[in-house]
Amino acid sequence: MTRVLVVEDEAQIARALQINLRVHGYEAITAPSGESALEAAARAPLDVVVLDLGLPGMDGVEVIRRLREWTSVPIIVLSARHAAEDKIEALDAGADDYVTKPFGLEELLARLRAAVRRGTVRPEAPRVQTADFSVDLAARRVVRDGADVRLTPTEWNILALLVRQPGTLVTQRELLTQVWGPAYAKETQYLRVYMAQLRRKLERDPSEPRHLKTEAGIGYRFDP
Ligand code: CA
Repeated sequence: MTRVLVVEDEAQIARALQINLRVHGYEAITAPSGESALEAAARAPLDVVVLDLGLPGMDGVEVIRRLREWTSVPIIVLSARHAAEDKIEALDAGADDYVTKPFGLEELLARLRAAVRRGTVRPEAPRVQTADFSVDLAARRVVRDGADVRLTPTEWNILALLVRQPGTLVTQRELLTQVWGPAYAKETQYLRVYMAQLRRKLERDPSEPRHLKTEAGIGYRFDP
């Protein structure tokens, strides 16, 4: 059965959506806030997320960004915000589709079917475990020897990018472009400095890294 997470703080809308989705053969679960949505997404695999933007606490766009750090699950925004800037912001953050309220149920169901067709890939595991440390991508947490490791935002962004693609060689250009921006694509000394910091925090022997490996002149590779 297709699992849908409905993120909606208005209980009546959430309930109506849940009932209608179940009638149409979906397994529908609901979350009343961004924080609870991230927990639900980390707990069990989802096939699609239907997300309101105006939420108490964490805003919907931030929820999209957090989800996109570790999962490619299709996200359909369902929002009363009609402005083009709002749509662009949500789509740039990683949403796949945007439906404005008030909405027709038939239209939403059609968008859901399309999103599920496109997103047949299951989300990745939100937690990565190595012999020396663990990375919880959903909670943005790194634990080593039972204690939290404090990372700067830049260190975290580099680590998350590598950990999401275990065993894959990630080029210096990709890391620099994704973490610092396209204007920094050649600043490889930045990477050397930050990788050295990460290894000091995470590797047993930073001079002989087991997990954060260098491919000289090309890039870096994370080995679990
Ligand atoms: Ca709302």
